[in-house]
Amino acid sequence: MTDTFSEELRSRVDADFDRVVDLLGRKIALKSVSAQGITAEHMKRSAQFVADELREVGVDAKVVQSTNPDGTPGAWEVIGSKVVDPAAPTILLYAHHDVQPVPDPAAWDTDPFVATEVDGRLYGRGSADDGGGIAIHSGALKALGDDLKVNVKVFIEGEEEMGSASFIPFIESHRDDFDSDVIVVADSGNWSAEIPSLTTSLRGNTCVDVHVKVLEHPVHSGQYGGPILDANTLAAMLISSLYDRDGDITVPGIAAQEPVGGLQRDLDERTVRADAGVVDGFTLAGSGSLASRLWTKPSITVIGFDAHPVEGSFNVISPETTFRLSLRTAPGQRPEEAQDALATYLEAHAPFGADVRVDKLENGMGWAMDPDAVATKDALEAMQDAFGVEPVNKGEGGSIPFIPELQRIFPAAQVLVTGPEDPKANAHSPNESISLYGLKRNILAEALLLDKLGR
Ligand SMILES: [Zn+2]
Repeated sequence: MTDTFSEELRSRVDADFDRVVDLLGRKIALKSVSAQGITAEHMKRSAQFVADELREVGVDAKVVQSTNPDGTPGAWEVIGSKVVDPAAPTILLYAHHDVQPVPDPAAWDTDPFVATEVDGRLYGRGSADDGGGIAIHSGALKALGDDLKVNVKVFIEGEEEMGSASFIPFIESHRDDFDSDVIVVADSGNWSAEIPSLTTSLRGNTCVDVHVKVLEHPVHSGQYGGPILDANTLAAMLISSLYDRDGDITVPGIAAQEPVGGLQRDLDERTVRADAGVVDGFTLAGSGSLASRLWTKPSITVIGFDAHPVEGSFNVISPETTFRLSLRTAPGQRPEEAQDALATYLEAHAPFGADVRVDKLENGMGWAMDPDAVATKDALEAMQDAFGVEPVNKGEGGSIPFIPELQRIFPAAQVLVTGPEDPKANAHSPNESISLYGLKRNILAEALLLDKLGR
């Protein structure tokens, strides 16, 4: 690519930007809340709107209804393609057109369904998540126009905020529509409005229920307390045995890894503490970079515990208890493997030989991008070019379940996770917004990326 063409793209994105912002405003007004019925008329209208807008930028787009795994009608999806040369690489562009609900409009400073610009940010439900993704794809395709050198396929999902129930059967029944060399998932975000990022990894997750039993029936704590420990105490001992003195998880077979693609910048401890509301005096657990602890090392959380409520408690030794552990796994480890390691460890470390049984619950795969892939390097260069600053990659401690699924169904595809959000976007919360500065550069970055991929 010549610098001249890069400059040309920049001026095309500039010239088209008012149209993109207007598109986003009209999208916000559609109130595409999938929680109010993924099959409902308003979701069909939302899909129709997106298909119309994609046709405006040269995509042969249509609305189709998916089928749920139980055979019932599912979400309104938008699929499309723009084929320029069967021999050229094919890029799948993903976003979703459904948005989070607005349970309390009074918590917003502006009308959640009227796009409102304040200080360089456009406010409204879905302005970022993921109307911003649709806006990025539209703007990039418009800027490239007839200079597009790759084949583009598009999938704009209609039920992402509802857990994508029909996602897998839909993708599997539309393999040809989605089969591609590179998949750009524009549903995450940047380090900040000014600093671009690829999202490099997602942790997987798994759960187990742990049953601890010490007695056949409750007994009086005055009569038997001492030699016989109650089940809650034994459970607490078992839980604490998962950690070493630093607060690192020490269970053999549960993998830890360092940030995928290297760590350009660590997370700021003050910000993390303030965002999470950590009490003064609490020392953050674990060792190594904060980023690795939040993105790529495992974490275990007790998310449920059957114990007698304090109110109405009396002097008995609790005979048995159950607690549920949620294990976030390193992006590269199969969650089944980590789950097996956790179960084996727990059963082998029963305190004082109590009866410990583990039930294994559901697993969700993590995901890691390939930092050495050509598409990854192209994306980072495109971002650097568009924003004028070095990208700072980031991981996600949580999951975006459809990304590992896409990767599983299309193992040869390079998945690139980009997106319109930044730390001020408040996706899923009141006062959701998108930075217009960031949006414009995200559009240019995607246009530059598509151009590079076509070389
Ligand atoms: Zn989203």
